[in-house]
Amino acid sequence: MGKFQGGSFQAIQEYFQQKFCRNCDCQFASEGIQLLRQEPGVLVVRVTCKACGHPLGVAIVGTVLESNNNKEPVLPADWSRKDAERLAGKAPISYDDVLEAHQFFDQLGANWAQYLPKTGKIS
Ligand SMILES: [Zn+2]
Repeated sequence: MGKFQGGSFQAIQEYFQQKFCRNCDCQFASEGIQLLRQEPGVLVVRVTCKACGHPLGVAIVGTVLESNNNKEPVLPADWSRKDAERLAGKAPISYDDVLEAHQFFDQLGANWAQYLPKTGKIS
């Protein structure tokens, strides 16, 4: 995990930009790499191919916060002040979050799959 020293989202973007989409063989673009969540020591990113829309998935990346343990978490450079206020104080993802997601999908009813983008099968 030495590549991700300092918890840099940019380093993670650069990492995934060296990977190729299994669906269309295009390289992943930085715009397709979205930071979902940042916790102290953990970044959650979603990687999607911008060429064909095929989702690679969600990656939870452990980061090393060197000599930063007692300070504010390092926030991504592209977060606005509002983003930081909105997201920085969030509790870590818990089982409740997973449960809420299931309840959300349940509410969609039997035809929920029709709302998903048509990007082929998810492998
Ligand atoms: Zn693709």
